[in-house]
Amino acid sequence: MWGLFESSSDSQSVTKIIKTFFTKQENASQWREYALCSQTNPIAFFPDKGGSTRDAKSVCTSCVVRDECLEYALTNDIRYGIWGGKSERERRQLKKDNDLAIELVS
Ligand code: SF4
Repeated sequence: MWGLFESSSDSQSVTKIIKTFFTKQENASQWREYALCSQTNPIAFFPDKGGSTRDAKSVCTSCVVRDECLEYALTNDIRYGIWGGKSERERRQLKKDNDLAIELVS
């Protein structure tokens, strides 16, 4: 996503995120087993700054665990990459909208 791969530490962070996401852990959520992106190049989900998100989002459109993926990214405040078909900026906006809605209700 934005600012990705600008430095080697960013690149290492992304690699760590990708490995964490695709590594099945004992307590890993079941939904990851159905992640459509696991059948594609995961790098497409972490484009360079200004890079296209179209291919990744296209895959997400057909993914059966899109909602679970997006919820995971929002819950864990994941800042990089495409999750649940949303970019970092789009997820930030979703959070803002959600916070505003909660504020209005309370
Ligand atoms: S919604 Fe997209 S990023 Fe999430 S698991 Fe599915 S294909 Fe992967």
